[in-house]
Amino acid sequence: MREIVVISGKGGTGKTSLSASFAYLEGQNAITADCDVDAANMHILLDADFSNRQDFFSGEVAYIDSDKCIDCGKCKTVCRFDAILLKENRHTIDRISCEGCGYCARVCPSGAITMHKQKAGDIFVSNIKNGATMVHAKLGFAAENSGKLVAKVKQEAKMLALKEDREFVITDGSPGIGCPVISSLSGANLVVLVTEATVSGLHDLKRVVELLKTFSLQAVCIINKYDLNKEMNKMIEEYLSTQDIEVIARLGYDETFAHALIEAKPIVEYSAQSQLSVTIKESWEKIKTKIRNQK
Ligand code: SF4
Ligand code: SF4
Repeated sequence: MREIVVISGKGGTGKTSLSASFAYLEGQNAITADCDVDAANMHILLDADFSNRQDFFSGEVAYIDSDKCIDCGKCKTVCRFDAILLKENRHTIDRISCEGCGYCARVCPSGAITMHKQKAGDIFVSNIKNGATMVHAKLGFAAENSGKLVAKVKQEAKMLALKEDREFVITDGSPGIGCPVISSLSGANLVVLVTEATVSGLHDLKRVVELLKTFSLQAVCIINKYDLNKEMNKMIEEYLSTQDIEVIARLGYDETFAHALIEAKPIVEYSAQSQLSVTIKESWEKIKTKIRNQK
């Protein structure tokens, strides 16, 4: 089992559209993982059925048993996160502000405070188009720790791929360079960078390439809308060549991208014979060849 992670320095480059197309092309030979958990939407393109759900817990939150509480106020004094409120002379926890440090429970003289596991989201294993399988997640309201949720999604996807003897895990990574992206990249065999020919595209690409160096990961690049700014495209290609990163596809500006999104379909499904789809199919074949030739 080999894992391909598709990332971009920022959102809106076409990363998810391309990931969904790769997943659609590979069908049952791959498990797809949507690690863009803060803005998950690949399930829409791949028509996920949410057939299997499990809770995702991360950290703890304090709970006050009002029957045991004598309202001494000690917990409120020690809480550094202002998570203990006094309402009508009764102490209560603001669950959103609580960081789960447990200090209040240790100082409470009446044993009124207990720590409870915090549900931070849901993880789904879904049947998707082409008879394939996808692992995806939904972060809970005001929940943090999306890096941990990403790690869990990847772990589930890899376990499933091993169990069902699938050749690939195709991961749609998080945008940016923060904790969720680092988590997305963990254990990747090949990284597909998606960028576009703009000033911010090059800037974000450089940040993400620096991140890859930290993990010594092999990468290839797809440049989207390369023809909108040929000067910038040249600068991006020159930069990638200094970094020894191969450009495996140049996608011209094409409204098919937007139309496929509106129709909630991967590009290669929406417009199978278009030049855009042909180029995406070629790039997927190059990715597979590259990863199969790895030592
Ligand atoms: S420390 Fe315990 S008893 Fe005192 S106010 Fe807080 S919960 Fe109530
Ligand atoms: S667990 Fe920590 S953050 Fe939460 S209420 Fe208690 S002291 Fe405050």
